[in-house]
Amino acid sequence: MNLKDYIASVADFPKEGILFRDITPLMLNGKAYKYASDEFTTFAKEQEATLIVGPEARGFIFGCPVSVNLGIGFAPVRKPGKLPREAQSVTYDLEYGTNTLSIHKDAIKKGDRVLIIDDLLATGGTVEATISLVESLGGIVVGLAFLIELEELNGRDKIKQYPVKALMKY
Ligand code: 5GP
Repeated sequence: MNLKDYIASVADFPKEGILFRDITPLMLNGKAYKYASDEFTTFAKEQEATLIVGPEARGFIFGCPVSVNLGIGFAPVRKPGKLPREAQSVTYDLEYGTNTLSIHKDAIKKGDRVLIIDDLLATGGTVEATISLVESLGGIVVGLAFLIELEELNGRDKIKQYPVKALMKY
């Protein structure tokens, strides 16, 4: 299956000069969505993951099916002010400004084998911050999986020491 058939490329969204890769047509096609979910599930099995972690919001879309397929947990990583209980937070730099991500402190147990799943790897800032949250709570990051990797942004440079799976590259 050619998954790129189910990605819409949208010029100047959310601002001028950005070519946004819209994954919603893939979600809308049950066969393509299942195919992508199965690929992630196979990778999770190979890496012997015991927990899936995904950043909001599109990390939920691709991470949760893997958790359900394997009968393992899913822990959400969220923007500030969304998690109701004690959370661990990390702030990282964006091109302009900063961003903060949080995870519940009790979501990760020491020694958990964590696969991080998100829709897209761009500069790598989001996944790098997610890795630091997992590791600061004693989790072992056993892999990183993305639907799409934007190669020209060199996000891979930030995650060289981890096994990475990207289902599509642009
Ligand atoms: P990074 O932190 O690697 O620079 O950016 C990746 C994050 O931004 C991901 O969580 C992803 O959801 C979002 N993102 C950035 N660009 C795009 C895009 O073109 N399409 C989609 N679907 N998400 C994007």
